Amino acid sequence: MHRKILTAALVISCLSLVSCSTNNSVEQPKDDLSQENISDPAVSEAKLQEAGADCMAGTAVSGRPVRVVSTVAPITNLVGLIAGDIGPIVQGIVPEGTNSHTFEPPPSAVATLETADIIFVNGMMLEDPTLELAKANAPKAVICELGTSSLAESDWMYDFSFPKDGGKPNPHLWTNPPNVLPYLSTIRNVLVNADPTNTDKYDANYVLVSRLVMNLDDAMKVATATIPKNERNLLTYHDAYAYFARHFEYEVIGAIQPQSFEEPSPKDIAALIDQVKSKKVKAIFGSEVFPSPVLEQIGKETGVRYIDVLRDDDLPGEPGDAEHSWAGLMKFNYITIVEALGGDASAVKAVSIDAKISDKATYLQ
Ligand SMILES: [Zn+2]
Repeated sequence: MHRKILTAALVISCLSLVSCSTNNSVEQPKDDLSQENISDPAVSEAKLQEAGADCMAGTAVSGRPVRVVSTVAPITNLVGLIAGDIGPIVQGIVPEGTNSHTFEPPPSAVATLETADIIFVNGMMLEDPTLELAKANAPKAVICELGTSSLAESDWMYDFSFPKDGGKPNPHLWTNPPNVLPYLSTIRNVLVNADPTNTDKYDANYVLVSRLVMNLDDAMKVATATIPKNERNLLTYHDAYAYFARHFEYEVIGAIQPQSFEEPSPKDIAALIDQVKSKKVKAIFGSEVFPSPVLEQIGKETGVRYIDVLRDDDLPGEPGDAEHSWAGLMKFNYITIVEALGGDASAVKAVSIDAKISDKATYLQ
């Protein structure tokens, strides 16, 4: 209880600093969860600073609502929550349930992009075709890469489906609560920049959403502790849990999906089967967006349970439902993982995912 009050007080005291600061930047909530995986803002990294400056390059929009475009659904939800019913019109352009890593925006996306004031993407090379289209068709829009502007390149992770020699880092920061906090502060800053008269309202939403992220992180830590550390092994189909694993002390022993996002070769499958057997993996986690017969095959040949319902950017439920949210996705995934590994997920089940803000964003289905 004390912890929660302290956390909220810290967020609010950080926000009160905002109004005094001259550069209009918001400090990160000073909670210990934000310290572990988030880069030191003092680290001089060209990409980080350049991306941060790009986010803050806009000017105030007056006389009409601010038009905001976002890419994948979890990020659209975070933007939708900070915007609430204050006025910005938020439109997601990556349809839910599609492969966001290979998504090529259709020509119809041009019309949405070219009228945008602000375009939020994850960055870290996740949505390169969308980014190119945005740069070509929306030269006046603020293009803000939330991931690239929040994590120094030296902290980017490269692993199974995102090997260093492929040149693209693992972009899935949003599956790890501490990495979401700087997304929220950047979204808040960018919206305040475009609509400064409503600063107090954006700050109020920022506090509510930050608190939700922290509550979820706290509960996830409690649930994590119910699984012995040597049993925290993750073998997933889609490679979306690198930063999450580092924070919650899991070992990602592999990802089945190759760099090409196609099916693995028979040789790769044989190697994975050996690995599952030798590591005594309790469960294999597939992705709802990438149904794969390979998972079933590995499950059958190893006798290990496979669970093919995890989500990395397809929100549960339907738009308008409470669980159709970043928090809903996180809660669903973590209950699934913890229970499959024999832990107790009751702390996560008890978290309310209701941010008490209505998300008015439009999601493509
Ligand atoms: Zn993904």
